[in-house]
Amino acid sequence: MLSLLPKLIFHKLTDVTPEFLQQRGIRLLMLDFDNTMLPYTSRTPTPELLTWIDGMKRGGVRLCVVSNSKKNKAPFFCKAHRIACVTHSKKPTGKGIRQCLARFDAQPSEAALVGDQIFTDVLGANCAGATSILVKPIHLHNFWLKLRHVAEQPFIYLARKRRITKP
Ligand SMILES: [Mg+2]
Repeated sequence: MLSLLPKLIFHKLTDVTPEFLQQRGIRLLMLDFDNTMLPYTSRTPTPELLTWIDGMKRGGVRLCVVSNSKKNKAPFFCKAHRIACVTHSKKPTGKGIRQCLARFDAQPSEAALVGDQIFTDVLGANCAGATSILVKPIHLHNFWLKLRHVAEQPFIYLARKRRITKP
């Protein structure tokens, strides 16, 4: 569905648990990379992130990074931590998302996409029929990222409001 409203909002990626996803029938979690897993400015994961990745794998949730990036940072990280990776994904189009679903032989209804951006991650997940999960960007290190985040606020506000009225 063409919607800019996230289905779920979490403060950060590591707040999402395998139990929470499984209760909703989600077995594949697609991950935005930049500013969802790592800030743009660093290549070093936090110990918290590594523990979370391990917990997801042990909890039976399949992970696949779906990134619009054309750089080697995401593939390098994914190889080191044994996570599937789709780059050049062109979110919000369905290209990378479809590629990921096919790789795991998963239906959109069994998949969620977690990311920090409304206009790429949330829109892409919603259009593909997957559950959209919005998290707060790790670090808005430049003016354009800050500006985009301001433009996202009305949709975050509406999504929060909707969650209150329709739990
Ligand atoms: Mg991002």
